[in-house]
Amino acid sequence: MEKVIRYKCDYCGELFSSEEWCLEHEKAHKRSEKANMMLDEGKTLEGINNECHLWPEVPKYLKNVTKDNCFVVSYWQCCDKPAYRIVSITHKGRLELWGCGSWNGYYGGEFKIGNDNLKDPRPKEELFVDPRYEELYW
Ligand SMILES: [Zn+2]
Repeated sequence: MEKVIRYKCDYCGELFSSEEWCLEHEKAHKRSEKANMMLDEGKTLEGINNECHLWPEVPKYLKNVTKDNCFVVSYWQCCDKPAYRIVSITHKGRLELWGCGSWNGYYGGEFKIGNDNLKDPRPKEELFVDPRYEELYW
């Protein structure tokens, strides 16, 4: 029999066999906490990355993107309009998008920062919210 020590992340409860890894992992949470605060304040991804160092670099087309920009992700809800906005940044540095591209309501998911679906950010004026959803449920 062997007694085993584990280290538990304060944020998500994930267990680690090394204190170092656990601390490193918690640092990532801390970085994303700050990143999300900045995102909410309307800072650009480039500005966020300069402070929080989440990614080696922000692709050119995303540098000036904020939470207000919207993206087309046609395979999510068969919606070819820009319905999805960045709502958070995960501790793994992924971008979580969320929006209402279909009559059945809101939907979302995560992308890595270099993902092709993020290549064409649209201005906030183009945000699409499927009007059929509100007609049906409100
Ligand atoms: Zn954690």
